[in-house]
Amino acid sequence: MAGREMNKSHAVFEEAKRCLVGGVNSPVRAMMPYPFFTARGKGCRIYDIDGSSYIDYCLAYGPLILGHAYPKVVRAIEEQAEKGTVYGTPTEVEVKFAKKIAKHVPSAELVRFVNTGTEATMAAIRLARGYTGKKKIIKFEGAFHGAHDYVLVKAGSGATTHGVPNSLGVPGETTKNTLLAAFNNEKAVEKILKKEKNVAAVIVEPVIGNAGCIMPKEGYLKFLREITQENNVLLIFDEVITGYRLSLGGAQKYYNVTPDVTTLGKIIGGGLPIGAITARRKIMEQFSPVGKVYQAGTFNGNPLSMVAGYAAVSELEKGRVYKKLEKLGKRMRNGLEEISERLKVKTRIYGAASMFQIYFTDTEVVDYRTALKSNAEFFLKFQRELLKRGVFLPPSQYECNFISCAHGGSEIEETLHKVEEVLRRLQCS
Ligand SMILES: *Cc1c(COP(=O)(O)O)cnc(C)c1O
Repeated sequence: MAGREMNKSHAVFEEAKRCLVGGVNSPVRAMMPYPFFTARGKGCRIYDIDGSSYIDYCLAYGPLILGHAYPKVVRAIEEQAEKGTVYGTPTEVEVKFAKKIAKHVPSAELVRFVNTGTEATMAAIRLARGYTGKKKIIKFEGAFHGAHDYVLVKAGSGATTHGVPNSLGVPGETTKNTLLAAFNNEKAVEKILKKEKNVAAVIVEPVIGNAGCIMPKEGYLKFLREITQENNVLLIFDEVITGYRLSLGGAQKYYNVTPDVTTLGKIIGGGLPIGAITARRKIMEQFSPVGKVYQAGTFNGNPLSMVAGYAAVSELEKGRVYKKLEKLGKRMRNGLEEISERLKVKTRIYGAASMFQIYFTDTEVVDYRTALKSNAEFFLKFQRELLKRGVFLPPSQYECNFISCAHGGSEIEETLHKVEEVLRRLQCS
């Protein structure tokens, strides 16, 4: 930026680096050469402090299926804030919301609300261990289940983007109980379960949204359901992304495979922090105060997250939403395919409903290993050029892009037009 005046985002970033690690509070937000600092969001657009706006496909990494500042959600938060934000006592909205989730999500009977997806998977794994009396878990390479010790092994998302899929500071004693398998590979899970008799659970992102967007092969989730049942192992669907994203009933409804335990987060908070663990009664009642698996939190089921989430999910219930999202998603994926073909850029496009990712690769992406073959550096150039033109994708080949109800056909076409322009330009350079 020599010779040019620094813009505001750049200046704030320089200041941020003096008081925040790397200038950000979560590694995924780091962006080269500096991230834009946000002033506000409205609908499908996010605005930076320099006055630029972007069509947003990051959507806070998943929660904002209704877009930014959805009026009914804003009103619910305002009304609740007037009445208090946390009580340390139960409220009616927790009951109403849990009932709704139990109605929508096939595997859900009882719910425990927590504050993040990280807490949800941590508690779900503890629950599975408590219920089965067994110790080990199977996790898939490249999947991300939050940033706690049990699951930071070959973890996707920012852990992969920033080169720390196996974090320092996680004791080997913890991770030796986390067994890894390749996604979409039946033999990999079979082999482990044949040898290991101490497996409590298999935890899976039914669509891996943290290594780009990796789709389950036809029949694969059903295979996981059957093999876990045969071996008395619980199947945990981590639907923190896919819950209320693929359908009202999440991926389990979309693919018609019902797990034992489901973790939710992101969308169900309506833009506020949230997580949830759900399962049938017999499993859930292992949790305190009924059972002996301890889980607690000052802000669990806090009224602000509850009213925001309840308002958001009530909107999603109103039919047509998922049809619209499916249509926009399809147009985006088809458009990206057409452009790739026209320009002869080697890509693989994946997604379902309102999830999509473009991998710069000429091999099929079916698991972490194949995802890592794509040209992540080229993706970052692509992302940066799009950003200059007012389109915001998460800055990593290993994240998923999302579409909200606030996006329309015209934004999708505008985006595709810019994608074509950027790819033409990058081809020539
Ligand atoms: C985001 C995510 C988490 C962690 O949720 P946080 O609210 O960020 O703690 C867990 N699992 C999956 C699949 C996620 O995408």
